[in-house]
Amino acid sequence: MFVRKEAAMSKIELRSKILKKNKSIAEDIRSELNSNGLWCMNLIGSPGSGKTTLLEKTIPLLSKKGRCGVIEGDVKTDYDMKRIAALNIPTVQIETSGSCHLSSEMIKNVLPDFSLEELDFLVIENVGNLICPVAYDLGEDQRLVVVSITEGDEKPLKYPAAFVSADVLVVTKADLEPYVDASVKKIVDNAKSINRNIAVFVTSAKTGEGIDSLTNYISEVFSAKVE
Ligand code: MG
Ligand code: ZN
Repeated sequence: MFVRKEAAMSKIELRSKILKKNKSIAEDIRSELNSNGLWCMNLIGSPGSGKTTLLEKTIPLLSKKGRCGVIEGDVKTDYDMKRIAALNIPTVQIETSGSCHLSSEMIKNVLPDFSLEELDFLVIENVGNLICPVAYDLGEDQRLVVVSITEGDEKPLKYPAAFVSADVLVVTKADLEPYVDASVKKIVDNAKSINRNIAVFVTSAKTGEGIDSLTNYISEVFSAKVE
């Protein structure tokens, strides 16, 4: 009993040490990006929530407002990276080989692969996971949490930390609402009950719903920041 408690303590201490280091690297990244006039977004969501598809639809519109670069995080494979690179924008893959989140150190290591002075937006697609990516600041200016209607409307209540820390909620696959036992309104209400300031965009990559508004929002927040 005593031994188990000791072990648990040191694990907590180790975790807080790791997070402290992560935070300090993240702050450096944020100031480096901001001093290059760059705006950074961190996309968090479960596997299959539609993060990559959302980017495939949003990036071509966002590219009309500014130059985009993307960091694709995945545990294994570069499938998603190839889909984004097909949009002809600078794309860098981080294959975490088992780690279920990106850390600021991983981001720092790939930043030299971009010409930062040539970019306006840096988009990070985190590893599909709604739990530990939440604890890791990557130096982003805004955090987007992505939830598809097919995941059910109780998602915000089950994973509140993800919604507390996010600036924006993007509901995806809204066109599937008639076929599933979940409602967009409930997802939004549940998210707002946790974080009443969260900005909300209801989207469908199939019909294009909400993609314009999301893009306009991102570019408006960006302009406000750089002015
Ligand atoms: Mg993906
Ligand atoms: Zn993790």
